[in-house]
Amino acid sequence: MARLQPVRGTHDILGDKSIRFRTIFEIFRSVATRYGHQEIDTPIFEFTETFKRTLGETSDVVNKEMYTFEDRGGEHVTLRPEYTAGIARAFMSNGLQQSTPCKFYSFGPIFRYERPQKGRMRQFHQMDVEIIGVPEAQADIEVLAIASDLLNELGIGQHITLELNSLGDPESRNDYRDALVKYFNGHKGALSEDSLVRLEKNPMRILDSKDEGDRLLIADAPRIGEYYNQETKDFFATVTDGLEGLGIDYQINDRLVRGLDYYCHTAFEFTTDQLGAQGTVLAGGRYDGLMEMMGGPKTAGVGWAAGMERLAELISEDILHKPNRPVVVTPVGAISQTLCLKVAHDLRTSGIVVDMGYKGNVGKRMKRANKQKAIFAILIGEDELLRGVAMVKNLDQGSQEEVSISNLANYILDNEK
Ligand code: ATP
Ligand code: MG
Repeated sequence: MARLQPVRGTHDILGDKSIRFRTIFEIFRSVATRYGHQEIDTPIFEFTETFKRTLGETSDVVNKEMYTFEDRGGEHVTLRPEYTAGIARAFMSNGLQQSTPCKFYSFGPIFRYERPQKGRMRQFHQMDVEIIGVPEAQADIEVLAIASDLLNELGIGQHITLELNSLGDPESRNDYRDALVKYFNGHKGALSEDSLVRLEKNPMRILDSKDEGDRLLIADAPRIGEYYNQETKDFFATVTDGLEGLGIDYQINDRLVRGLDYYCHTAFEFTTDQLGAQGTVLAGGRYDGLMEMMGGPKTAGVGWAAGMERLAELISEDILHKPNRPVVVTPVGAISQTLCLKVAHDLRTSGIVVDMGYKGNVGKRMKRANKQKAIFAILIGEDELLRGVAMVKNLDQGSQEEVSISNLANYILDNEK
C-alpha cells in the first residue's frame, strides 16, 4: 500500500501558507520588475556537471546535499540545488553574451538533501535575482537595493540586518588564502576532518565551518581586510558608498564567506534573530569567475537568493494578498436555479468572487455564506424572477435591498470595498 506521508523534509503548500507564498512572490515580482528584471525559468534538473563544477568540491551542497540520479538513458542529472549555476548555463546556452546586461528574476523549488529541522527542508523554495555582464559595483548596489526594497515592502525590514563582506579580487584572495593556509597548518591537530579537506582544496571555506573546534580557531585566524589590494578597497568602497547614498544600513562581517565556491568581491547575507538558528533569509554575492569555470567566456555576475519558507514565517497577517470576500448566490426554490447559475456566471465575468452552493435549502446556504465570510448574499425566488430583480443582503450590516438583475454587477462593485 502506498505510504500516505510526504517524503521527509518536503511539505504540501496550501491554505494560509499558499497565501503567504503568493503574497511574497507578487511583491517580489513587482519590485524586480521595477528594476527592469525579466523572469527566467530554468529546468528543475540539469546535468550534474553544471553544479558539481561550479559550486565547488568542498561546498556542503556538492559534498552532501545534492539530489543526483542517473536517468533511464544513463545521464547523470541533479535536481536544482540553487539557481545561479542553472541561470549562468541558460545565459550561455541561449547565446546572450551579446545582450548584456541581462537582469533576471526567478522563483521555484530547490532541492537539498539536508537534515530536516525548523527552517531547513529538503524541498524548499527560493526567489532569485541575477545581473549578468556587469563588472561594475553599481550592479552590486542594485541587487542589494532590490533585496532591501523587497524586505521593506514585506514589512520586515526593521527585523533584518544586512551583513556585508568583500572576498576581494583574485589577487587579494590569493594573498589571504596563503595567510589562512599558514595559520591553519599551524593548528592542524585541532581542525575538524571536513576542514582538513577544505585546507587542501579551499581554505577560505573553513571560515564557514559550523564545527565548534573550528570556530575557536577561526576566532584568531587572519582577517581578510588586511589583505585587500587597492582595487579591492576601491570596489568595496563604491559598494558601501552606494548603500549609504540609498540609506541602506549594513554591518561589515569579515568572517562572512558564502557556502559556494564561485564568489569574489561582494558577499552578503540578510539575517534576523526572529527565526532561531536558521536566521539567514537572503544571501548572495558577486561571481565573476563562474562562467569561465563553466567553460564559457569571462562574464561578470552578481545576485542573490532568498528562502521563501523563512520569509513566510516573518511577514505579518495584514500584508497578505487575500482574495476578495465572496458574494453568495442563493436560489430560493428550484425554479430560479437556472437563472442563478447565469447570474453567478455574469458576476464572475465582471471580476467578482462568487460562490454558489450545489444543494441545500436557504437556511443551510446562508449558514455556509456566513462561514465563508461572504460579503453579500443574493437571493432570487419566484417573485424576484418574475420581476427581474434580486434581493441583495449585506451580511455585515444585516440590511437588504432589491436590485435589478441587469444592474447587479455594478451594484456589487460599487458597494464591496
Ligand atoms: P545555510 O548556511 O543556512 O545552510 P546556505 O548558505 O546553504 O544557508 P544559500 O545557498 O545561500 O544558503 O541559500 C539562500 C537562502 O535559501 C538561505 O539564506 C535560506 O533562506 C534558504 N535556504 C537554504 N537552505 C534551505 C533549506 N534547506 N530549507 C529552507 N530554506 C533554505
Ligand atoms: Mg546550506
